[in-house]
This record gives sequence, structure tokens and C-alpha cells, in this order.
Amino acid sequence: MVQNNKVFELINKEKQRQFEGLELIASENYVSEDVLQCMGSILTNKYSEGYPGKRYYNGNQFIDEIEIEAIERAKNLFKVNFANVQPYSGSPANLAVCFALLNLGDTVMGMSLDSGGHLTHGFKVSFSGSFYNAVNYGVDSNGYINYDEILSLAQKAKPKLIWAGFSAYSRILDWKKFREISDEVGAYLVADISHVAGLIASGVYPSPVGFADVITTTTHKTLRGPRGAMILSNDEEIAQKIDKAIFPGLQGGPHNHITAGIAVALKEASTDEFKKYSQQVVINAKKLAESLSNLGYKIISGGTDNHLFLVDMVSSVGLSGKEVGDILDSVGITVNKNAIPNDGRKPWDPSGIRIGTPALTTRGMKEKEMEIVAQFIDRAIKNSKNKEEMEEIRREIVNFTKVFKIPGIQ
Ligand SMILES: *Cc1c(COP(=O)(O)O)cnc(C)c1O
Repeated sequence: MVQNNKVFELINKEKQRQFEGLELIASENYVSEDVLQCMGSILTNKYSEGYPGKRYYNGNQFIDEIEIEAIERAKNLFKVNFANVQPYSGSPANLAVCFALLNLGDTVMGMSLDSGGHLTHGFKVSFSGSFYNAVNYGVDSNGYINYDEILSLAQKAKPKLIWAGFSAYSRILDWKKFREISDEVGAYLVADISHVAGLIASGVYPSPVGFADVITTTTHKTLRGPRGAMILSNDEEIAQKIDKAIFPGLQGGPHNHITAGIAVALKEASTDEFKKYSQQVVINAKKLAESLSNLGYKIISGGTDNHLFLVDMVSSVGLSGKEVGDILDSVGITVNKNAIPNDGRKPWDPSGIRIGTPALTTRGMKEKEMEIVAQFIDRAIKNSKNKEEMEEIRREIVNFTKVFKIPGIQ
């Protein structure tokens, strides 16, 4: 039955692609077999609009326990008093925060997309830049956030909410400085830790708890859970507003199979094994950045403090991020094109690529492998016109990846 189904055939092809490739997209990871099992479970059959103990449907006695478990684990892991685990994903979570705390047309501030911010932090084509008056801050020419600039922008714009968080910034955020700026202008501070949640849970990246009014995060990036999101806070009044904004404000029934997967991932993330994993993610990112730098590539800000970094491909090899992304794809190395700070090029053909190590680290790769990966990247870029050499690189990568397992594949 399964063999004849086109979708299952395609899933098998995707499995093979994942297994035989080098996954360097900074927002991706491989979840455990237990998390996979939750997501593929019968929990998807159930409607549970509302919250534990306050559902609009009957038959939720076990679903309630699962959601309570996920909430408790989130509170324990991140050391907060309130957690909502129902957002369908990171973008709806951010929308819910705005819906809870803002009126249409209010001013918000966030990092610009080309400096490493997220669409939902006030980009003009997103809800966040069209329903609200969005003001963006950037990074300096070295690729670092300039807090004095943010403060003076905030003093002028008087935002009601400031986003602190990123999808493509390789350095530490100073949550305390963001708090001071927010206090100075009377703004809510929302920390979006989507990219670094796993690192924060492991103590290898600073936590915004104690500084931010609200914390949003996806659960599927460094945290290594299912595709989903959470909203955390320590303020009861804010937490209540957020719960209302998620349901009935924006969403209907929660995705219970995902909630279960989040609960499992949160438990996994509380182990020593996961802490070691997160430490290795950062070690690997530093090593890969250093190896590429030694091969002549220009790393934005010169290196990384977390799981990702940007490479300026135009000034490194005279190719755009899109060209390099396509070259690497053809040998089974997956990255994404990415704008670099003050990028003069268009978003669909920017100057850089973003590289991250969470996925390869889950496969068990360490510093030694990062050097090899850097060489594969360099060889592919320099031999992109040589078909035979590209085929040879592809074969070597298939061979190289074989011993590094992915949960749920084979
Ligand atoms: C990934 C990400 C999101 C959005 O997550 P989706 O699940 O893709 O909607 C939001 N904010 C930041 C900073 C992110 O990196």
C-alpha cells in the first residue's frame, strides 16, 4: 500500500536526500525518534480548543495531562512562571504577542531583515510592518549591534514594543542593555529566542529571563523539537493576555501531537547529553567559521559566538549568495542565501550565505569533520564549472555522511 503511494515515495526520496547531504541551514535540526513518534501519533485526531481544564470539547483528560506536562517542562527548563505551548509556529507566536500587547498602528522596533532580524520583527511586507508602524535598527560595519544607536532611535520613535532576537546574527545579545533601552522609552521588551533556545536551555548562550517581558521561541531549531512555538513570561497579567490572544484570539484547536513532541523535546533538552550537544554546536560553528576563514572566506563580524555565521561571498569569491547556494546544493551541501549587513543587493540574490551547525552536530560531527566540510565547500565553489570534479565531490560527500546517523532514517 505504502509503496504505491506517490507521497510516501517522495518521503523516501527526502529521507535519502537528508541522509546523503550535509545540512548547514542554521534553523534546521534532526529530531529524536521519540519526538517523531509523538508527531506521527493519534493525538492528531483530537480537538481541544481552550486550555487544560477549560476545553470546549469533551474527551480531553489525557490531552490535558500532556499539555500540562509540556507547560511544566517549559517552565522548569527556561525558569519562567508562565508558558503557552500552543502557538502553531514562531510567526503566529509573534503575531499573538502583538495582538496581546499592541493596538493597530502602534510603533514597534526590531532588527532589520538584512542585519539578521526576522520578518515578524517589523519587515514591511509582514503583518508586523503593515499593521504596525515599524522602525528598524541595524548593525555597524563590523556586523555588531550598536546599543547607542538603538537607544537614540528608540528615543525618537518611542516604540511601544521592542523586539530583540535574530535569525542571522552570530554574536551575543546584551539582554540587559535591551532592558535599559526599553525602560528608557517605556516599551515592552520581547526576546525572540527562536534560533538560540536550545543553547539558552543548555546555558551556552545568555538567557533573557529577568530582562524581557515576554519571550517567544520556535521549538524546532536548536531546541530540536517539533515544528511549533512557545511564549514564556513571568508576569501574570501579560501571560493572561497572551493566552487570550492565542485562543480564542488567533487560533482554534491546538496541535496535540506537536504539544506531546514539545514535551518530549523539552525533557531531552534538560539532560547533560543535550548540554554537551549544545556546547559542541558552538564549538563546531567556531571551527567551521575559522576553517573557512583560513581558506580565504570573509566571515561577517569575523566569527561566531553561537551556532551560525554569515559568509560574504561577493567579496570572498565574486559570486552571489544565490550562486553559491546553488553550487553547493548540486553536491549535496545545503545552505541558504542570506543578506549581509548593509547589503546592496536584492533579498532574492543577496551577497552572502548563512551557515549553521545544529544539524550536523546532531549527526555526531565534531571539529575534525568541520574542517572536512569547509574543504568540501571550498572545493565545490572553486570547481563549480568542472563537471567531473563536482561529481567526484558529490560521491565523496555521500560516502562521508554514511557513518553519521539521523534518527528515523534507516
Ligand atoms: C524561525 C524564526 C521565527 C519564525 O518561525 P516559523 O516557525 O518559521 O514561523 C521567528 N523569529 C525568529 C527570530 C526566527 O528565527
